[in-house]
Amino acid sequence: MAVIGGGNSAIDCARVSRRLGAEVTVVYRRGEEEMPAHPEEITMAKEEGVGFLFLATPREVYDRESITGIKVEKMALGEVDDSGRRRPVPTGETFDIDCDGMIIAIGEGTRVDDLPPFISHKKGVVETDQMGQTTESTLFAGGDIIDIPHTVTHAIGSGKRAAIAIDQFLEEVKGEKKSLDQFRWGDKGNISVGRMKGTTIFLRRNPSLEVIDYKDMNPFYFDHRQGMKIDRIPTKERLKGFQEVIPSPSEQKTVSEARRCFMCGSCTECGNCYIFCPESAIKTDPEGYGYIPDMDYCKGCGICVNECPRGAMEMKFME
Ligand code: SF4
Ligand code: SF4
Repeated sequence: MAVIGGGNSAIDCARVSRRLGAEVTVVYRRGEEEMPAHPEEITMAKEEGVGFLFLATPREVYDRESITGIKVEKMALGEVDDSGRRRPVPTGETFDIDCDGMIIAIGEGTRVDDLPPFISHKKGVVETDQMGQTTESTLFAGGDIIDIPHTVTHAIGSGKRAAIAIDQFLEEVKGEKKSLDQFRWGDKGNISVGRMKGTTIFLRRNPSLEVIDYKDMNPFYFDHRQGMKIDRIPTKERLKGFQEVIPSPSEQKTVSEARRCFMCGSCTECGNCYIFCPESAIKTDPEGYGYIPDMDYCKGCGICVNECPRGAMEMKFME
């Protein structure tokens, strides 16, 4: 079986074919470094016995009815192209490979030239603003037709942004324009549907800032803990069927991984601020959880803020 392509779809096709008992070769026109597939996918495909033929592109299929082989042309790597990868350049040299089947798993292009002229496009993708609005203000675009990575995650994200923008657009039509910033977490953060609908509950205890930067924290109080090692089932087992290659972690591992969380921005009542305050001005918050400074005694030295491990306190200018 020959699988033509170098992306994750090609690797999926190859790995599924292996599970169905085929000998598989992925034929890709550039080198391994230029493959858009995720490196761990390529590694697992190799572990499962998938072969790779790099710098080769199909030119002719022998016996189309029941494939017996493919003529491929040897390619060389040229200059870096718009994708940031070195361009495959034909060499004119061809050779044959034997195979009894072929799966074409190359990327599909968008036909932007067929779009109406009032929708602007460039380099094969529709031009939009950051929320997906096209040059025709009543039309919004998302997914593979706009300039974002072609993954499901990015497609869903673009759909969410466009949904918010359409809602905004309709509000504006009604004369009730709101700023997008009020739906955003932090200065440059994500735009949230929950915030827009007012359904987001702020889950952090005693938050001082919406977004905590690493520089807001005091890493001295945290020990370094290795991340969870991801297990994979043995290759032999993988090839028996379609079970998960990466099994679910044990409860113990899951809890241990969760314990690596800095709880940034949330007071965990560690008591550091209380211990370090030279004026004994820190007290428990009578209104609920956490510690707060008593402003009648605070001298504004900032020690509590500095010693808070997780940035749950901040200094503010007061009149
Ligand atoms: S700023 Fe200084 S004095 Fe004020 S609560 Fe913090 S540690 Fe205490
Ligand atoms: S140092 Fe920070 S986390 Fe610890 S009690 Fe004070 S505010 Fe809470």
